[in-house]
Amino acid sequence: MSTSTQPEKHKFQAEVQQLLDIVINSLYTDREIFVRELVSNASDALEKLRHIQLTEKEVFDDRLPMEINITTDDTAKTITIQDFGIGMTRDELVENLGTIAHSGSKAFLQALRESGGKGESLIGQFGVGFYSAFMVAKRVRVFTRSWTKDESGWCWTSEGAGSYQIEPAEGQRRGSKIIVELKDDCGEFSGADHIRGILRRYSSFVQFPINLNGEKVNTVQALWLRNKNEIKDEEYTEFYKFAANAFDEPRYRLHFSADAPIAINSLLFVPNDNPERLGFGRVDPGVALYCRKILIDNHPKALLPEWLRFLKGVVDSEDLPLNISRESMQDSALVQKLNRLLTKRFLKFLEKEAEKRPDGYAEFFTHFGFFIKEGAATDFTHREQLTNLLRFESNLTEKGNLTSLKDYVSRAKEGQEEIYYLSGRSRESIESGPYLEAFKARNLEVFYLYEPVDEFVMNNLHEFEGRKFASADQSDLKLDDSPPPATGEALAEDETRDLCRWMRDVLGDRVAEISPGKRLVNSPALVLNADKMMTPTMRRMMKAMNQDFDDQAKVNLEVNPRHSLIRKVASLRKSNEKLARLATEQIFDNAMISAGLLEDPRRIVDRVYELLEAATEHAGTTTAGKPGTRDAEGKT
Ligand code: ADP
Ligand code: MG
Repeated sequence: MSTSTQPEKHKFQAEVQQLLDIVINSLYTDREIFVRELVSNASDALEKLRHIQLTEKEVFDDRLPMEINITTDDTAKTITIQDFGIGMTRDELVENLGTIAHSGSKAFLQALRESGGKGESLIGQFGVGFYSAFMVAKRVRVFTRSWTKDESGWCWTSEGAGSYQIEPAEGQRRGSKIIVELKDDCGEFSGADHIRGILRRYSSFVQFPINLNGEKVNTVQALWLRNKNEIKDEEYTEFYKFAANAFDEPRYRLHFSADAPIAINSLLFVPNDNPERLGFGRVDPGVALYCRKILIDNHPKALLPEWLRFLKGVVDSEDLPLNISRESMQDSALVQKLNRLLTKRFLKFLEKEAEKRPDGYAEFFTHFGFFIKEGAATDFTHREQLTNLLRFESNLTEKGNLTSLKDYVSRAKEGQEEIYYLSGRSRESIESGPYLEAFKARNLEVFYLYEPVDEFVMNNLHEFEGRKFASADQSDLKLDDSPPPATGEALAEDETRDLCRWMRDVLGDRVAEISPGKRLVNSPALVLNADKMMTPTMRRMMKAMNQDFDDQAKVNLEVNPRHSLIRKVASLRKSNEKLARLATEQIFDNAMISAGLLEDPRRIVDRVYELLEAATEHAGTTTAGKPGTRDAEGKT
């Protein structure tokens, strides 16, 4: 530690300076959040002190009140935020205010890089912490004295540009006092009324008294410890906004207490929007862990299963040892018990919502279904409940409506052993493909899967109530024998067999088997995978995930002997084999397109020209070889 009494100049870590440049130059409209950030730091410092007082005997200035004092001076244009919390040593000043050590700013920089530099809109969402003071400050001074007995006082000063300095400061009490000297265009932040409004908005639930120019502005409220029946909706919403640092209204809330097997008070929220869906990357666990109002960890990893990381709120348990460290928490049997209890309660809550308010649940599922799916595929303990909470569209639902596995089974035909699904980008793309028609013709329900995770879930779950999940593009499905309604005359069986053999020659190595299909109704042909595990959907996914995926697998081709095009090809091959070959190639490639398996669409272009030529030649002969008649046709 330095003993010099001269100011020492330090350079900010490069990342801090990068952040400061954005903050200083931002025209960000919500500059007022700097108040929230500094107050939350003061509150953190007090909480940490309370924690320390319970485990340490010697704390400097032990009798100071646990409060935050804010003073405004509209002549000097300053605002001062002062707390009697843990304070900082000289080394801690360097570490905490000179480097990016904390998660909020790190996440901000990360998001900034990913967003390509749109800093301003991100500041509010991440809270850039202490550095937000530089949105409004010409200069910031931090006077501080650590709680440890043998320390002395320090003053940290910076104008935000490149460097800061640290010098000894005599006569400091414990804690920190932050003096913000406002920029010329930020004078309003030295007005008491303005600051009172900001404090109301952001800091109502801070656990310590906040005095503004000597007058208390907040009422201390640990909402989760109060009786449910006495809490108003607005209070919950306000608490949510504070606890989750959020701007939306919560979609669901679950407030509950229990005494056994563990004493627990908990207030959980589901946000309105899913930030992962909005592209912000994986979110940190958002339910904070308290013991008797003392914060243990804001983002405890072990408190809830991974798939519940979207929850926000507070869990408070008296049974937790206060001095539990973040590291040992992972293994704590007590935290695991809390985890099981919370998960069980939340799942029960969702089940009830799904039953009582299915529309609201469906909307929840549209936003947060990803997490339920992740849970169903990975959390064996809760698999059954999670599976029941899954929802999908199907050919029997309206577009946008969802149905459950239970409902599917209740509608299934007698003797139907499988639960069918088809993957595709959209309802339209699934319904325009050739795979659905066999199921439609037999009145079988097929789930529509739109997201890659869906198929992953099906493969992991394997079955539901004794019925196996089966992709409708799988080649070994046993559909019942009742033939689909004929759409016309069919080729005779021996003709079909000949045709298939001939097509096999034309297509060569690209296909394993060609057979007349039972599935087809309106399409001339479809491809199925020769390898039964590797459905076209699976192949598509493998390719999307791995560019080098070695796709040597052959396909089987099913042709529809009832389809007029197939019947025409059968006769054409005797009169104009060249054209019949072209048509066969094109039918095959079309089927590959429908399966999403066509690698190189360019070869189609050339072939289509050839086909067009043949067609126009043919048309030319029927209009007595008069070129130009076709153009005139439209006008007559
Ligand atoms: P965060 O609060 O997310 O950790 P901040 O940028 O707000 O990030 O603060 C950085 C660090 O500076 C804090 O983690 C804390 O260690 C320290 N700090 C800030 N304000 C105070 C304060 N009033 N008292 C003690 N330490 C503080
Ligand atoms: Mg902070």
